[in-house]
Amino acid sequence: MPAINGTQLKERIGNLKSNIWFDGQKITGDILAHHAFKGVINSKARLYDFQVEVGNLPLMTYKSPTTGNRVGRSFHPPVKKEDLELRRLAAGEWAKLTGGMMGRTPDYMNTALMALGASAHVFEGENKLGRNVTNLYEKARENDLTFSHTYVTPQVNRTLAYFEDKEKPISARVVRETADGIFIKGARLLATQGGITDELMVLPAGGKFIEEDYVYAFSIPSSTENLKFVCRESFVYNESHFDHPLGSRFEEMDTIVIFNNTFVPWERVFLYKDLKAAMNLFNETNFNTFLVHQTLSRQITKSRLFLGTAQLITETIGIGEYQHVKEKISEMICGVEMMKGLLLSSEMQARENGSGLVVPDANPLTVASLIFPKLYPRFVEILQLLGASGTITIPTSNDFDSDIRSDLDLYLQGADTEAKERVRLFRLVWDMCSSAFAGRETIYERFFFGDPVRISVGLYNQYDKKPAVDLVKNLLKS
Ligand SMILES: Cc1cc2nc3c(=O)[nH]c(=O)nc-3n(C[C@H](O)[C@H](O)[C@H](O)COP(=O)(O)OP(=O)(O)OC[C@H]3O[C@@H](n4cnc5c(N)ncnc54)[C@H](O)[C@@H]3O)c2cc1C
Repeated sequence: MPAINGTQLKERIGNLKSNIWFDGQKITGDILAHHAFKGVINSKARLYDFQVEVGNLPLMTYKSPTTGNRVGRSFHPPVKKEDLELRRLAAGEWAKLTGGMMGRTPDYMNTALMALGASAHVFEGENKLGRNVTNLYEKARENDLTFSHTYVTPQVNRTLAYFEDKEKPISARVVRETADGIFIKGARLLATQGGITDELMVLPAGGKFIEEDYVYAFSIPSSTENLKFVCRESFVYNESHFDHPLGSRFEEMDTIVIFNNTFVPWERVFLYKDLKAAMNLFNETNFNTFLVHQTLSRQITKSRLFLGTAQLITETIGIGEYQHVKEKISEMICGVEMMKGLLLSSEMQARENGSGLVVPDANPLTVASLIFPKLYPRFVEILQLLGASGTITIPTSNDFDSDIRSDLDLYLQGADTEAKERVRLFRLVWDMCSSAFAGRETIYERFFFGDPVRISVGLYNQYDKKPAVDLVKNLLKS
C-alpha cells in the first residue's frame, strides 16, 4: 500500500479497538466520534490528505526501493545532504498544518523507524534480532503505519539506590520467556497518542539496564491482548474552533501504558537482554540526532506562530510604539533565528556515519534541544505580558450569537479590528498561554527530549572541549 490518505487513516484507527480507559470507563464506542480524540484524529487525517495531493507528492513522498510505490518522505534514509534538506522541508510542511502544536505528527516516529531500520547491525547480537527491526521498518514504510512510543518508567522513586520488588513489577519487565516470545508485566510512561496509533513501540528505559529483565525493545499492535492505555483528563473543552482553536484540534492525549502479562512474539522483538545494543540504541543508530532534526522544523514553526501572534496582539491593541514591546518581540525573533541557524548548521556539518547514512551534526541539535525548553516558556510569558487582560476577556462564540452581541461589538473591538476578530485572536492567545492545553504544551516542550539536566550532562561529556582549551593554553604560552 502506498502513502495513505486521511480516509484510510481514519478507517484503520476506527477499526483498531485498543483497550483505552478514559475518565473511569473503557472506550467501547466509535473512537473517531469520541470528543477527546476526534480533533486529533481529524488533524492527523488532514496531514495524510496533504501528503497525497498531487502537487505535494514529490516533496512529501518518495519511491519505495522495494515496491516502487510512493511512500512517506519521513521514512527516507538520507544518503546525501540534499536528502536532509528534503526531510526538513517535508517536516516543515506538516508542521505548518498544526502550527507546530502537535509533537507526535507521524513523521516523528517514522524518523525513529528510519534510524532504527538503517542500523539493523546494532540489534543483531547473539539473538540475531537485526532482521526484525528491518522488517518492522519496511512494513511501517510500505503501509504508512502510525506509532506511539514509550521509554519512561513510572515515577515512583527516582533515587539511584531504588530497586523494585521482582515479584510485584511496577516498571514493565520481562516476566516469562518461551520459544514463541516474551511476556511483559508492569507499566510505562507516557505514550502520547497511546491507543490511537496502529502500533506501540517500547524502547529500553534509561537507568534500568542494571537488570536484564528491563533490557528489551519491541513494537506491537495497539490492540494487543492484555495491553491497556489509561488516559489523562481531556483538554478538549468543546469542539468549537473559535472557542478553542488549538485544544479542539491538536489535543494529542497522553497515556499510561499497562502490560498485564502481555505476549510479544519473537518476530516483534528487536532488542533483548543485549546491554551493548541498549547502550548503543540512541547513539549508534543516530536515533536522537534524526529525531531532533525532525522536531526542530516543528519547533521553529511553533516559534514563528508565537512571533506572529505577538505581532498581531501588538497591532490589534495598538501597543507597537512602546520600546519594551519591540524588545520582547525582538527576543522572539532571536529565538526563531537561533533555532533556524542551529538546524541549518547541523545539515552543513552533516557526515556519513559509516553505514551509508548522512547524519546531521549532533552538537547544534543537542544545543537546540536544550535551548528550546527555555525559550518556549518565555514565549508563553511574552504573550501573557503583551496580551494582559485581553487573554482573559474572551467571550465564546455563543456569546457572539446572543442578545449581548452589540455590547461585545462595542466594548471588545480593537484599534482597527472588529470585536469578533479581536476575540478570535485572543482566544488563540489564551489557548497558547493559559488554557489547560497551553499548560500541557509547556511541560511537553520542557521534557520533549527527556530531562534537560541529563541532556546537558551528556553534551558536556561528549563535546570536544580540547580545541577551546588549547586556544587558552596557546594564548597563555605566547
Ligand atoms: C506532555 C508529555 C508528553 C510525553 N510524551 C511521551 C511519549 O510519547 N513517550 C515517552 O516515552 N515519554 C513521553 N513523555 C515523558 C518524557 O520523556 C519524560 O517526562 C522525560 O523523559 C523526563 O522523565 P520523567 O518525567 O520521568 O522525570 P523524572 O526522571 O522523574 O525527573 C523528575 C525530576 O527529577 C530530576 N531527576 C530524576 N532523576 C535524575 C537523575 N538521575 N539525575 C539528575 N536529575 C534527576 C529531574 O531533573 C527532574 O527535575 C512525555 C512527557 C510529557 C510531559
